[in-house]
Amino acid sequence: MRPEVLYPLFVPVTSLPGVGPRLGRLIERVAGPHVVDLLWHLPTGLIDRRHAPKVAAAEPGVIATMTVRVDHHQPPPNRRLPYKVHCSDETGSLTLVFFHAQPDYLQRILPEGETRVVSGTVDRFGDELQITHPDHVGTREELDRLQAVEPVYGLTAGLSLKVLGRAVRAALDKAPELDSWLDPAFAERHGWRAWRDALLEAHAPADEAALEPAAPARARLAYDELLANQLALALVRHHMRRTAGRAIRGDGLLTGRVLGALPFALTGAQEAAWGEIEADMACPARMLRLLQGDVGSGKTVVALLAMLTAAECGAQAVLMAPTEILARQHLATIEPLAAAAGLEIQVLTGREKGKTRTAALDRLRSGEAALAVGTHALFQEDVAFRHLALAVIDEQHRFGVHQRLSLTDKGRAVDVLVMTATPIPRTLMLTAYGDMDVSRLLEKPPGRRPVATRALPLNRLGEVVAAVRRGLDKGAKVYWVCPLVAESEALDVAAAEERSAHLAEVFGAARVGLVHGRMKGAEKDSVMKRFAEGALDVLVATTVIEVGVDVPAATVMVVEHAERFGLAQLHQLRGRIGRGEADSACLLLYAPPLTETARARLNILRETDDGFRIAEEDLRLRGAGELLGTRQSGLPVFRIADLAAHAELLAAARDDARLIVERDPDLTSARGRHLRTLLYLFERDAAVRLLRSG
Ligand code: ADP
Ligand code: MG
Repeated sequence: MRPEVLYPLFVPVTSLPGVGPRLGRLIERVAGPHVVDLLWHLPTGLIDRRHAPKVAAAEPGVIATMTVRVDHHQPPPNRRLPYKVHCSDETGSLTLVFFHAQPDYLQRILPEGETRVVSGTVDRFGDELQITHPDHVGTREELDRLQAVEPVYGLTAGLSLKVLGRAVRAALDKAPELDSWLDPAFAERHGWRAWRDALLEAHAPADEAALEPAAPARARLAYDELLANQLALALVRHHMRRTAGRAIRGDGLLTGRVLGALPFALTGAQEAAWGEIEADMACPARMLRLLQGDVGSGKTVVALLAMLTAAECGAQAVLMAPTEILARQHLATIEPLAAAAGLEIQVLTGREKGKTRTAALDRLRSGEAALAVGTHALFQEDVAFRHLALAVIDEQHRFGVHQRLSLTDKGRAVDVLVMTATPIPRTLMLTAYGDMDVSRLLEKPPGRRPVATRALPLNRLGEVVAAVRRGLDKGAKVYWVCPLVAESEALDVAAAEERSAHLAEVFGAARVGLVHGRMKGAEKDSVMKRFAEGALDVLVATTVIEVGVDVPAATVMVVEHAERFGLAQLHQLRGRIGRGEADSACLLLYAPPLTETARARLNILRETDDGFRIAEEDLRLRGAGELLGTRQSGLPVFRIADLAAHAELLAAARDDARLIVERDPDLTSARGRHLRTLLYLFERDAAVRLLRSG
């Protein structure tokens, strides 16, 4: 249960005074739906109103706050001209200019003969010194209440700074004092203030330096956020490890058969990863390991060896993929190899229904099936295993921590191996997985040729078609990728259908197949299968082929509207070719004109094939914010922390979290209870539920 002290923060923003449904929607767009989201909406700039010159000293282009006498009003002769209010002090005169003014209102706030304080950007019109639409007009007393330095917030169309600023202040009024969850010595060493004070300070920057990520108030709030992230991950890990593992030591019979049946030798990187996994499994503690390797680095074989080790002990192992296609692909890769070891593989996805599903569940429950491959269908409640010892999760970030957990709840002491093809930089890995053990496949299998990559404008489609024809004449298999327009899957599909019809006309209908996300599973499979077996020469696809598809004979890839894809995504796509011995080519078609960033992206792809370098460049080009902001990536999204600037704080938060969980795994000490509040504050409620006395 969320602590009561936080209730006022987890209510809709519309509960704030002056925030109605319309404003609520705008605020939701920039910050989020709850009051707490406004707290995290930190200023991006400031307006300094401390500059208070005499009129004669005011300079154009500068924000000035001046005390002036209102001399006289000059209503315009017609509505198109501005309403002017002439003012002065002892040094000179200043004209206030209002377009589309309401005279009554102006007379009320600027009565002739009175002294008023006005603040705004000064400009000069001929000889006249002016302020057009002053930001503030008020009496001297009102000025005292006017913030000398005003924070500037990220806005959206229809939402003004004045209105949003007021809503943020109302939200800050709701912020309670919270007991500190920080280690006191650590907080003191950094000169950090209490949570509420830091929050207020972060929203009231005194100068530009206060907007920097390193400013103490911001650093403290960022640390809180990182600590919540790291603590939640550490609790998940602790929870997984709490159930004692068991030693899984194979006799090498099945793995030996498969190694003998492989048409290649393992790479050094595969050997090393396999050794680490074997050692983890043999150890009584539970394995929690990440197998990280670029597309085509050969993770599947390593995973299979681990699964076979479980089978050698009479236990079961599952491999879970994020999509149906990937699950089928894994099945296709693994099935013949497992057959070499004399094992059958059970498949379980959303497509197995009725009797087939019942039979599958029986085989898993009885233990008759030692190995299984599937999708999240393997998580479902009625799925039981006789003795599940290993879960391999090929996740590409699409599974959350909780799905990982629910599978591991299916066995008493399941070892977990997570495979990821995204070469996430180290820092990001820490935020996504916490303190997980990592094996990296940095070396690719031998014989891979770099893919010749070219970028061409879309109006050279004719040349591209001719090049594809030359490729086809030499026996090449071709992927033709159509872009994903996020707003409309229907439009994507229409574009892909149109392209496949066009190519069918050019190359012959029998040679061209189409797969897209709206097709039924069996339909998709049959097209992919025909392409893999060589019956089709050209596969037109939306990005469904992005992950995992393995057709070594495919050597040409065309990507339409490459400028719409992310760098990492293009890299993943390109990884589908260049898998065999033959030369491969990737043609990136773009719609000119390219933005600077899009051009840089395409250039990087032409220059390198190194997934880690591409990931770093991606991070640099997009900024961590945006990379992390891609929610479907499954990587955590930070509101305050900036991973580039706060890398040291992240490391400190990891150590802190590790120590906390070691000493007080159920968060029952005084600090532990305050840490629970922290977890709720950052909406890590699920992690709290893992605590024994949650
Ligand atoms: P990943 O899952 O990491 O993208 P895969 O496991 O699908 O990569 O392997 C890609 C391709 O490389 C497959 O066709 C696989 O058979 C092949 N392969 C894997 N390991 C080796 C190796 N050591 N030598 C040669 N080819 C390999
Ligand atoms: Mg694979």
